[in-house]
Amino acid sequence: MFEPNLSMFSLSGKTAVVTGANTGLGQGICVAFAKAGANVVGVARRSCEETADKIAAFEGSFKEVIADMSDINVIPHIAEEAKKAFGRVDILVNNAGIIKRCDAVDVTMEDWDSVIDLNEKMVFFLCQTFAKEWIADGKGGKIINIASMLSYQGGIRVPAYTSSKSAVLGLTRALANEWASHNINVNAIAPGYMATHNTDNLRSDEQRSEEILGRIPAGRWGTPEDVAGAAIFLASDAAAYVHGFTIAVDGGWLAR
Ligand code: NAP
Repeated sequence: MFEPNLSMFSLSGKTAVVTGANTGLGQGICVAFAKAGANVVGVARRSCEETADKIAAFEGSFKEVIADMSDINVIPHIAEEAKKAFGRVDILVNNAGIIKRCDAVDVTMEDWDSVIDLNEKMVFFLCQTFAKEWIADGKGGKIINIASMLSYQGGIRVPAYTSSKSAVLGLTRALANEWASHNINVNAIAPGYMATHNTDNLRSDEQRSEEILGRIPAGRWGTPEDVAGAAIFLASDAAAYVHGFTIAVDGGWLAR
């Protein structure tokens, strides 16, 4: 008989690759995973010193891989360095993302491409790279994509970002349909309005900041720690039968 216990949430002995690991939600997920027992490979285009220090404080396991993910050709480098550090990768978190705020009529093709390339194309091809290995070795794996409220809503002055995050929700479903039978769980987390660099501009605009806060039932901006529980759950054995779902961690924003 199945006897549930807390060990099903443990990530002990697992290796996780987390992109955008130097700051914000990516840093929060790295720290949470390391606390849950995982070896964490943090990918970023600059030093992850702060993340490494937070994990070293409790003697967790962390290795940084420097890669500018605006170039799709860095994928083999990321996969090889992760394997070199800890062996087989079990968990992939596609967190790195950018947002460009601009009236739709003024968006340049360059800005459009930079957002779609990182937030959507890179996500798909990283998923493909690890899923290929997991299908080949038959041992499965976990993918967590970071979506957004703008996977559900249109947003204001961020058309490329909204397109990319709506695509992340669809892609999460599409890949789950193909890979669930291979024991690969593809799910996503849709953070609400979180206090990170992504929302620096919003939070410094007094009027927008007030409008946003007034609409969040929890009455506060989210923090990197707020996504930790959902991330650990989706990365763990506890989520074995969860496929293609996007969990909102939004202080109730979508409930309004
Ligand atoms: P953030 O602090 O701006 O983090 C974004 C991360 O992506 C940073 O580590 C950033 O590195 C990295 N990144 C950007 N371009 C990169 C590149 N070319 N190569 C490698 N890494 C790159 O914001 P965040 O809120 O933590 O964002 C994390 C994810 O959550 C993003 O996908 C974002 O869209 C999503 N999200 C955020 C919110 C929110 O309210 N904050 C809400 C919904 C979804 P640098 O530090 O070097 O730029």
